[in-house]
Amino acid sequence: MNTLLQYGFTDRIGALFSFHFPSGVQPGRIVRTDRGRVLVATTEGILHLDDAGSLATGDWVGLRGDGDRVVVGHLPRSTLLQRKRAYDPLSEAQALAANIDLLGVVVPLDRPLSTNRLERTLVAAWDSGAVPLVILTKADLTSRFDGVVAETVDRARGVEVLTTSAEAGDGLEHLRGRIGAGQTLALLGPSGAGKSSLINALAGDARQDTGEVRTTDGRGRHTTTARELVPLGDGAILMDTPGLRGFALWDAEDGLSRVFGDVEELFAGCRFRDCSHESEPGCAVQAAIAAGDLEERRWLSYRKMDRELASLHRRQDVAEQRRYGRAFHRVARDAAMAKDYRNRYREG
Ligand code: GDP
Ligand code: ZN
Repeated sequence: MNTLLQYGFTDRIGALFSFHFPSGVQPGRIVRTDRGRVLVATTEGILHLDDAGSLATGDWVGLRGDGDRVVVGHLPRSTLLQRKRAYDPLSEAQALAANIDLLGVVVPLDRPLSTNRLERTLVAAWDSGAVPLVILTKADLTSRFDGVVAETVDRARGVEVLTTSAEAGDGLEHLRGRIGAGQTLALLGPSGAGKSSLINALAGDARQDTGEVRTTDGRGRHTTTARELVPLGDGAILMDTPGLRGFALWDAEDGLSRVFGDVEELFAGCRFRDCSHESEPGCAVQAAIAAGDLEERRWLSYRKMDRELASLHRRQDVAEQRRYGRAFHRVARDAAMAKDYRNRYREG
């Protein structure tokens, strides 16, 4: 089969492509990104090229040139999973995975359920725009934690839950059947959750010729690197990105509302509009906790993520202010002095 069809190229992508790029530009899909370099699946096989700037695994890109190909840009992304860059004072987003249709939140059955982690991962999953799916792994070990399946179904709040065992082969066909032709399923979950085993079990022999790619670097040396997109046939793809294993949220308010809609609905019932839901009289959140209608753990899980996003926005504002430079500082300084003046005036 044509390489690009294996990597999920469809008529829709073809149409978008001719709309966005001039004729002569060839299509490709990013199968891995690596500090300034990318691996691209093309009609000529897998190429190792320079990054055109912030490409993500799963991006559809345009390639120009005969002989030496150059990435000229990427198509608009249908979905995008991003995270906050680690150690970045300016708080910029890092694109992790693009054009994923399904996001599998992987939960292993060989240990107690981490509800906070499940909620956080679902927030990120909803926020990407892809359809979330909870994938329970290691079902053959479930007897040790009998309640985990039921608890996960309960906590997932309507998100579809599939049970699998890479070891025993259970549930694999059902999961494979959920990934339509030309669709990409990315797996999100902690290390040790069974993602690689699941990918190997689903890809079977295909994994052997897709797992590693021999490429030539600029100096003619051969290197081997793992692809992060694994074709399953029919253009169905599994995405395994190490960066997806655990990460800080980025602008995920929509995802937060999807997962915690019931909590946010309570706010309207608080007596004070600016209620901080701590100890104010007439707080609907505290009332719901006291009445046993809202778990305190769930409230704290929500508040932690909400504060994380608020602090992200404060840092974004600071970064924004720096960009505006001195003019902004003058205005900000004047505003601060004015506020200071008002405060003193009030006190005095
Ligand atoms: P990853 O870090 O998420 O990629 O997890 P791995 O696929 O490497 O699996 C972590 C461990 O769990 C390994 O020791 C696997 O052998 C084991 N494991 C994975 N899937 C299953 C399963 O279905 N059943 C059992 N019993 N063990 C599994
Ligand atoms: Zn309140």
